[in-house]
Amino acid sequence: MARNPRKNLSGKPGRTIAVFGGYSVGCGSDAYRHAYELGRSLGAAGFRVVNGGYDGTMRATSQGARENGGYTIGVTCPSVIRNGRTPLEPNEFLDEVIPAPDLLSRIDTMMHMAGGFVILDGGTGTLTEFAIVWEHVSKGFLPPRPIVLTHDAWNDTVDAIIERKPTAAVQLFRAHDVNQIVAHLREHAVQIRRARNSAPGLLAPDPPTHANDGSTTVAELRRLIDRFIADRNWRQFHDPKNLSASIAIEAAELMEHFQWLRSDELDNGASNPRLRQAVIEELADVLAYVLSFANAMNIDLTTALAEKMKKNAVKYPVAAFRGRAR
Ligand code: MG
Repeated sequence: MARNPRKNLSGKPGRTIAVFGGYSVGCGSDAYRHAYELGRSLGAAGFRVVNGGYDGTMRATSQGARENGGYTIGVTCPSVIRNGRTPLEPNEFLDEVIPAPDLLSRIDTMMHMAGGFVILDGGTGTLTEFAIVWEHVSKGFLPPRPIVLTHDAWNDTVDAIIERKPTAAVQLFRAHDVNQIVAHLREHAVQIRRARNSAPGLLAPDPPTHANDGSTTVAELRRLIDRFIADRNWRQFHDPKNLSASIAIEAAELMEHFQWLRSDELDNGASNPRLRQAVIEELADVLAYVLSFANAMNIDLTTALAEKMKKNAVKYPVAAFRGRAR
């Protein structure tokens, strides 16, 4: 949905700033003007602005950035953020709209796009976004990135946390003045570029590595797939029709590895490591599409499986079906 691809500066490290703030800010208010000014300065300084894509401060920063040469991205959440039955419309100042399947994926998408963060005044949504980003930055789950707090509402909590753990303060910067905020982000963007030039790959987002099934949640797997797709702007292709076909295609590729094998040649792959590796990869393909399908249709896989197994238990009682395939 890119309307203005010429200005997309995605290749420049540190050049995308995520702005988090409240949605209920009216057009003529001081908070709207402040957010607009921030967007204007970010746009004029050549930053891309990413935010939640809807109203209030999201609209204000997008408007300010867009009207001043900036590229704007809204990461929306149409399956959750609705007006009755209808998904809320993204604001009109976005160059690109990326729909996320749920609120955590939405934050995750913005977090991994951004080389810096600005936290405006807001409610529980903004506080959640700030907390998740701060956790990732302060614990080193993300490369160093500046987080600018622009207002005082959460100062007591923030200060209490920093008092217990001073390292949590390292990337935090407090400023209300728009020029000060943008100067701080510019300085950091230069540092990021220098760091990247001197140590290529240092700041590339690391794919999550998971030890095994025992230490990984379904939600983590869903986010892994969703981020892979979002990074490539492929969500537009991952609709239920394409995904259901893809599941069937990958399942057929899985079957192909067993075609013409005799039953005495079928074991768990111990006698044929190459077959086992090929099968593992096809199974991963099937799983990737199943997860993407669940994301696209907002289906909770755990609930779906648990409900279906309840039905199966009624349909195939142990007493009648134990040891019987038919
Ligand atoms: Mg395949």
